[in-house]
Amino acid sequence: MAEHDHDLCIRDALDSAEALCARRGARLTTLRRRVLELVWQSHRPVGAYDLLARLGEGRDRAAPPTVYRALDFLMEQGLVHRIHSLNAFVGCPSAREGHAARFLICTDCGEATEFEDEPLQRDLERIGTARGFRIDGQVIELQGLCSRCAAERPVA
Ligand SMILES: [Zn+2]
Ligand SMILES: [Zn+2]
Ligand SMILES: [Zn+2]
Repeated sequence: MAEHDHDLCIRDALDSAEALCARRGARLTTLRRRVLELVWQSHRPVGAYDLLARLGEGRDRAAPPTVYRALDFLMEQGLVHRIHSLNAFVGCPSAREGHAARFLICTDCGEATEFEDEPLQRDLERIGTARGFRIDGQVIELQGLCSRCAAERPVA
């Protein structure tokens, strides 16, 4: 992600989470909101242990199961995605139900960028259909260097 005002990202994420939960009648409790805010501290995926550590720093200490349940809730609502290859979590910049989250993950700075791609989606469906395979889930996480990190490391 290029230099940007990340406070704005956090505020946007929390605002749209509140709007979305209100619309669905889902309860964004103080803890759930706090966990979402902590996930959004950066565009780097954060592991559950780090989240617990961050939560432990404040007054709002929470027991691990509570935090895991908060993460489950946030994932159900599509506000947070799990990065399987890192066993970590990242906030969704365009939260809505049932969209396929795919990521470009920079192995240098650690940022995970979500992307959507219609032709790719169609290809995957075609591959499933051709084999009589009903696709229920998918994990697409590409590893490499983001444009900024790549610019600092020209190919020899
Ligand atoms: Zn940001
Ligand atoms: Zn998403
Ligand atoms: Zn990078």
